[in-house]
Amino acid sequence: MPDFDYDLFVIGGGSGGVRAARVAAGEAGAKVALAEEDRYGGTCVIRGCVPKKLMVFASEYADVPGMARAYGWDIGDGAFDWSKFRGKLEDELDRLEGVYRGLLKGSGVDMFDARATVSGPHEVTLSTGETKSAKHILVATGGRPIRPDLPGAECGIVSDDIFHLDALPKSILIIGGGYIACEFACILNGLGVEVTQYYRGAQILRGFDDEARGLIADEMREAGIDLHTGINIVEARPASEAEDAESMSAPVQARQIGGSTGHPTDAGPIWIKATNGKTKVFDTVLFATGRAPNTKDMGLEEVGVKLGRQGQIEVDAYSQTAVPSIYAIGDVTNRVNLTPVAIREGMAFVETVFKGNKTPVDHELIPSAVFTQPEMGTVGMTEEEAERQEPIETYCTSFRPMQSAFAGRTKRVLMKLIVSAESRKVLGCHIVAPNAAEMIQLAGVAIKMGATKEDFDRTVAVHPTMSEEIVTMRNPVRTA
Ligand code: NDP
Repeated sequence: MPDFDYDLFVIGGGSGGVRAARVAAGEAGAKVALAEEDRYGGTCVIRGCVPKKLMVFASEYADVPGMARAYGWDIGDGAFDWSKFRGKLEDELDRLEGVYRGLLKGSGVDMFDARATVSGPHEVTLSTGETKSAKHILVATGGRPIRPDLPGAECGIVSDDIFHLDALPKSILIIGGGYIACEFACILNGLGVEVTQYYRGAQILRGFDDEARGLIADEMREAGIDLHTGINIVEARPASEAEDAESMSAPVQARQIGGSTGHPTDAGPIWIKATNGKTKVFDTVLFATGRAPNTKDMGLEEVGVKLGRQGQIEVDAYSQTAVPSIYAIGDVTNRVNLTPVAIREGMAFVETVFKGNKTPVDHELIPSAVFTQPEMGTVGMTEEEAERQEPIETYCTSFRPMQSAFAGRTKRVLMKLIVSAESRKVLGCHIVAPNAAEMIQLAGVAIKMGATKEDFDRTVAVHPTMSEEIVTMRNPVRTA
């Protein structure tokens, strides 16, 4: 047996990598090292889920004074102070990064604050020039936002940059109709930014249940977002370089923005041309046009690791790559790009490799949420997917919830169950409502256990709530 420096070398200190490293070291007694070139915590903690959710909370307070007045409170509108919020956000992210470092240290993991590349089936090379050998290498390098290939794309920002803005823009054009585009459209709209969103397809949130995403699009427009579908951007450039920009309602003066992803930090208003030939000027353009796995210049293909068409690492059910000593988990494998999934993949890897218990990763029936306003919680098949598979019954209700209806608001929520006509199992559940993410976690347990529609019907409603509708829908609205 060759002598290795480590039993496991993890590349990437995000949620998946950190979990795998500390469980392998702390529970399985392995000698483990981890290299991270940026901040510990990765996309989720530093530039994704966590700061995004705190921004969701911040933006939701915009509605509180109006609601409170409708309920009899004598309360005035306030103003949002971005720099105050951003300062607190930075402090919180520093704290969380410290927690991640502490967890690794406490488990006895050696940490290298350096970029690591793979230089052999059992060897990594650090940007410090050192090489380390390991019996197993785990690649958990995540992904990064990508800009579309169009002239002037570098004028815009990507999601990573939002948390570093020195000031909120007065107006923003968001390109894309996925999770990040829709979530930030709602957040920034709530924080008082004039939001325009262009999505190239017919309806935002492609892949989600049609009725659910239709309601979200309606509610986003109702909330003031200027959402356009069937349109894209073909060109962007600084407004100062565009001839017709002067005549347009030019937004506020140039500001310092971002800088972490290489866009101009002194960018001012941006002129854009759309696929319909129209030109406009926005304070900022956000490209939320997808993410790519971080595999570039990692030395992976050179040692025999196979990459897919999007650059993702190809792995088997045990997260093992084409090189038996090298494994990969999380967004870099582009399976299901969600933090809890990366964590599970990390745990299954440790179970398989260090605990002698071969554990495949279960990617079935993963509950998830989109933090738009209103939120969407979803688990299982959409109506469209299910009806292609087998005969189904669709149970659905949409209504004005008590809390906002009392305040005179027209906001609607949606509760939907997709049921197999034959087995009676609930194949999918889709909820669009405030706190839908919290509701779907619990519905997800029942559905993962194989609950039937009759199991839902047998469950007594919690009254008065929105989610009671999930157990009180008696007749299908459609069968297919
Ligand atoms: P998505 O893949 O969800 O969305 C990308 C969007 O950009 C799509 O609407 C796509 O259109 C559009 N697009 C792609 N290329 C172009 C182009 N050249 N021009 C115009 N539009 C384009 O990616 P996101 O970046 O929003 O999110 C990445 C992943 O991160 C998600 O898939 C999810 O796994 C994860 N995530 C999860 C969150 C959560 O759990 N709440 C929150 C944020 C991210 P089209 O539909 O036509 O392809």
